[in-house]
Amino acid sequence: MAAKSISKQKSKRVLKPESLMMSYGYKPELSEGAVKCPIFQTSTFVFKNAEEGKAFFEVAYGKRPLGPHEKTGLIYSRINNPDLEILENRLCLWDEAEDGAVFESGMAAITTTVLELLKPGDLLLHSEPIYGGSDHFFKHILEKFGIHSIGFMPNQSKEEIIKLVKSTGKSDRLAMIFIESPANPTNDLIDMKMCVEIAGLFSTKDKKVLTAIDNTFLGPVFSHPLKHGFDLVLYSATKYIGGHSDVIAGACIGSKALLKRVKSFRSIMGTMASPNTGWLLMRSLETLKMRMTLQAENAEKIAAWLNKHPKVEKVYYLGLLKKGDKQYETYKRQCLSPGAMISFDVKGGEKKAFKVLNAMQLIKLAVSLGSTESLAEHPYSMTHAPVNDELKMKMNLTEKMIRLSVGVENYEDIIADIEQALEKI
Ligand SMILES: *Cc1c(COP(=O)(O)O)cnc(C)c1O
Repeated sequence: MAAKSISKQKSKRVLKPESLMMSYGYKPELSEGAVKCPIFQTSTFVFKNAEEGKAFFEVAYGKRPLGPHEKTGLIYSRINNPDLEILENRLCLWDEAEDGAVFESGMAAITTTVLELLKPGDLLLHSEPIYGGSDHFFKHILEKFGIHSIGFMPNQSKEEIIKLVKSTGKSDRLAMIFIESPANPTNDLIDMKMCVEIAGLFSTKDKKVLTAIDNTFLGPVFSHPLKHGFDLVLYSATKYIGGHSDVIAGACIGSKALLKRVKSFRSIMGTMASPNTGWLLMRSLETLKMRMTLQAENAEKIAAWLNKHPKVEKVYYLGLLKKGDKQYETYKRQCLSPGAMISFDVKGGEKKAFKVLNAMQLIKLAVSLGSTESLAEHPYSMTHAPVNDELKMKMNLTEKMIRLSVGVENYEDIIADIEQALEKI
């Protein structure tokens, strides 16, 4: 489907992903010369003849491999659609992944991928804290299918985590390590290198323990887990990738072999993205690097300002890690920027935090993140309401915390808004 990299057609120069986001994989001559990929709002595709239809199905259902001069054919939009295929090819560029799949939500990406790759009796090891939807899926839904899960804390050492896996009595059934890094809302980092090593330890000749990461907070611009040995990268594309708070979507990227399984399960579950969602995300990818870069620049200034404010007790932001901090080395190794998520504790409790949130004007009081507009919320009572209180305390997630997703507004306007809100307490 996709055209070969333009970089290879015209010169030896390898273009950067941000240069390819406007054109990669799209041939205008196949769409009346339209400079932008249209929305292929169609459920089905016409075959040239019955022989072609038969050939497309043989490949789609894995009855035979793709011939050397053959292209996968378009059949039906639950199986494939140009808006999804071109988008998937573009999403792969940032991480240099072999293949990708897009979904109608981040949760659809996570649930479809995990259900395809695990089976009853398996053990899933995951980091804590984890996104509420994933948390519920791991702890309550997988259990119904006989798949067990166990969580580890960001401050646990490799030895402690290995011990934890062994303590379950199911270490021979460890099938996947799933992490979220940086963790929401505390920005704790999970060491990818350590996870790959643990997976290696529990892998055998005929069973590879897979590593998967929810890279929603920093990726795809500022974190490339496949380059650190991870097998799968998952996204809520609703956040930075979509970036305009106007679409719910998800993605999974990784090797051809794994994605082949994920995509065929996706077509059975019916969790693929719609053509319109695919088109919206392609629009968004064009400005992804620009948005994330500006958001990160804004966040750096806002975090430095918050860090000096007398009414702010603590700021949780990767850019404030110092040489010698436990997570500093991990940060240097696996992150290209601190990103644009900041959490901070106000002096006081829920009452004070609510007062600040209610007084914000430019910054909108809403969950979700990664969009052009700045958003603030109260993790304790909102996004992390279902997490048990003891676990919340263990990870410094208390009633005085506010989470801020920094947008693309002028940073002085954002600071002025926080300043007037903090004046209310
Ligand atoms: C939002 C989010 C999800 C879920 O994505 P949806 O697109 O809402 O389904 C998963 N993980 C993280 C880290 C998120 O922020």
